[in-house]
Amino acid sequence: MLLILALALAACAPSTTPDPATVEAQAPTLPAIRPPVVTTGLPGTTGLPGTTGLPGTTAPSPAPATVAPTNPTPVPTLVPEIVSTTIPTATAEPTPDRNISCSRRIADNGLLTMVTLTYGLSRDFEPRGLVSLSGYLPGDVTLGYPTELRRIIIGPLVTMIADMQAAGLQPSIISGYRSYSAQAIARQKWLEKEPERANILSAPPGHSEHQLGTVVDFGSPELAEIVGQEDIEFHTWFYKTSEGIWLLENAHRYGFTLSYPFEAFETTGFFYEPWHFRYVGEEMATYLHEAGISLTEHQLATEPPPCIPDTP
Ligand SMILES: [Zn+2]
Repeated sequence: MLLILALALAACAPSTTPDPATVEAQAPTLPAIRPPVVTTGLPGTTGLPGTTGLPGTTAPSPAPATVAPTNPTPVPTLVPEIVSTTIPTATAEPTPDRNISCSRRIADNGLLTMVTLTYGLSRDFEPRGLVSLSGYLPGDVTLGYPTELRRIIIGPLVTMIADMQAAGLQPSIISGYRSYSAQAIARQKWLEKEPERANILSAPPGHSEHQLGTVVDFGSPELAEIVGQEDIEFHTWFYKTSEGIWLLENAHRYGFTLSYPFEAFETTGFFYEPWHFRYVGEEMATYLHEAGISLTEHQLATEPPPCIPDTP
């Protein structure tokens, strides 16, 4: 049981990761509610958004309010820059070189770069267009953290946050972009504190989706009470919070997908992380949501390996 929670933290543990003792104290009970069934069969071909397909151009659909608005948090009215939600795909960039070792892989800045415990990124890869969230979202959402994300996802993210607030929810953003070096520092911290569990408490540098700059870890004010720990930031029970429930049902409408569903360990290498959402564009996110699979599952079934794994 502890293993599951610890592994769940592996891909997400930010540079401000909780103390090991905190992790230890978290109740690692498996969720009682089953997340969407993960299919293992090959995806159908009807309406399948392949990685070489053209991007969808439809505007995000408004998500239904699931909670009656109750004094919604004021939404920022001035967004410094309107960002198009048009979905870029790999076709917009040169075909990536797949015959390269993963430790040298520089991703192409598309939205569908595969990152797993097998297929990593070079220490030199830094995503294009990183901006600080503080210019786009209020402090009660960013929690004062200097979080950065790629500019391309700011528009959909701000829209989704606003719709959540209009529905009476109080989402926060705990973690976004993490550089290779930041991940290495976090990793080293765990190696020193808990060498035996470092592998499951923190992803090795180069193997966290957060290095892509298109991943958000969400928080909920309800989590502390549900877990019974005041300073808790990440816990499997996020799926029980109003924000977690809403995101699971609606995030795909804005182009976000849950990277690590409950049953996706075998394909993703990570356990359930109900707070970790990656922007892949509305078309792909909706396909994955309806098919009940993760992006990694879809890609492993339909694409050649993105790079040659490095031997340990
Ligand atoms: Zn994460």
